[in-house]
Amino acid sequence: PALTKVLDNRSAFKLDPKHEQPMGTWTSEEIRDAVDEHVMLTWAPGKARHNVPIITHGEGVYVFDDKGKKYLDWTSQAVCSNIGYTVPDNVVEGTVRQMKELPFIYGGLGITEVRARLASLVSDILPGDLTGMVFPSSGSEANEAAIMCARRYTGKFKVINWYRSYHGGTTNSQQATGDFRRWFGGDNVPGFVKAFAPYPLFWDYAGDNEAERTQMALNMLEEQILNEGPDTIALIQFESVIRGGGVIMPPPGYMQGVRAICDKYDILMHCDEVMVGFGRTGKLFGFQNYEGVIPDIVTAAKGITSAILPLSMMACRKHIMDGFEDKPLGWGSTYQAHPVAMACAYENLKYMIKEDILGHVQELEPVFEDCMRTLTESHPSIKQYRHVGMFGCFDAHLPNGENPQLQHTAVHEAFVKYRMAYTENGLIGLLRAPHLHVAPPLTITKDELLDGFDRQDRALYALDEGLG
Ligand code: PLP
Repeated sequence: PALTKVLDNRSAFKLDPKHEQPMGTWTSEEIRDAVDEHVMLTWAPGKARHNVPIITHGEGVYVFDDKGKKYLDWTSQAVCSNIGYTVPDNVVEGTVRQMKELPFIYGGLGITEVRARLASLVSDILPGDLTGMVFPSSGSEANEAAIMCARRYTGKFKVINWYRSYHGGTTNSQQATGDFRRWFGGDNVPGFVKAFAPYPLFWDYAGDNEAERTQMALNMLEEQILNEGPDTIALIQFESVIRGGGVIMPPPGYMQGVRAICDKYDILMHCDEVMVGFGRTGKLFGFQNYEGVIPDIVTAAKGITSAILPLSMMACRKHIMDGFEDKPLGWGSTYQAHPVAMACAYENLKYMIKEDILGHVQELEPVFEDCMRTLTESHPSIKQYRHVGMFGCFDAHLPNGENPQLQHTAVHEAFVKYRMAYTENGLIGLLRAPHLHVAPPLTITKDELLDGFDRQDRALYALDEGLG
């Protein structure tokens, strides 16, 4: 039987005629059949695949399904398609050129011009002396590199993260995560300590005013560090603006306080900019919203290529880079510093700078906020909103202060109906109840933005009904 299996496998190593058909010619049924048989989802149960549309193409800020329905991308998918779906000529040409010249060279075997150029461009636009660069393929990997970098540079082991933050799906980055997604990993990887981010949404720190509450949050963090032992803590790692937990900005003075605590106890400070890096918040990097704060390590991904190809980055300050002259970082992957992905990133960043996408975000920000306020005022299902740049979040008004982690059936049903109305009104995007995110491609025009809020306005009546 074993021999038969080998022979069977060998005879299978030829093309079935269906693979000879040109791309774009399979019917929807053929696609669905193959998906049903072979395709696994990741963060969602497998059967959810039946509700995921077949997307055929994209243009501008829209994607189209197999029935010709046009969807406005209302969250840049996973807050990554920052320049939408019409790839600029320079990005196509630069990427294809690299693919033809040299599709790949393993990062330790050869240095490429594109690696030197991308590293110098990113270093130029980062503030301070964040000059050391590694280019992995995903945000999770960039965070793995950051954790390893901090541990090996400081000789210490523990990492402090905030609850509600997300850092990725690989072992360490998943355990660094402060929301439910780390539970999938059994929550059993040592070395990760969780702290409360200030401004929790469902309770409050003691204190009569913002300054007092901020100080209280910093005191708690310092107390935690002292109890954990400062000599055991390598890194404080957090999202510059928490997304999944609901676009939460820390209060004024908090980040400066964290910087001071890190300096006091020789702990490295890491801003995870995987989602907000490269313009989402109206600043090039999210931490630039906190005056005077320069982290020791910065990671970014999505926006670096606008998700056209997978690439991420870890940047560290010069003295940290120098610390690895005589020892390896101790983290790597086959595809880090992939020349084709780096060419894509290089041209994407040049496009964003030349087209002043940052200026565009800043210009549209007041319109964005106006729409968020209007919708909050006109829908009883919406309790409040927060936003920074082109990154917004409505909080749904849950009955009787219900804990959103416990999915009460009626509440869950309301969100299912909202999701249907959202799709019917031609929006596509991520929904993380009770937070409704708004993060369209940064290249969206004012008219498209107003149209998107109009569509969301119509969809929200379904949520009003369900939560009313
Ligand atoms: N960190 C943050 C803040 C993220 O938002 C994400 C992804 O959403 C990640 C890390 C993980 O990035 P990736 O999915 O590319 O591994």
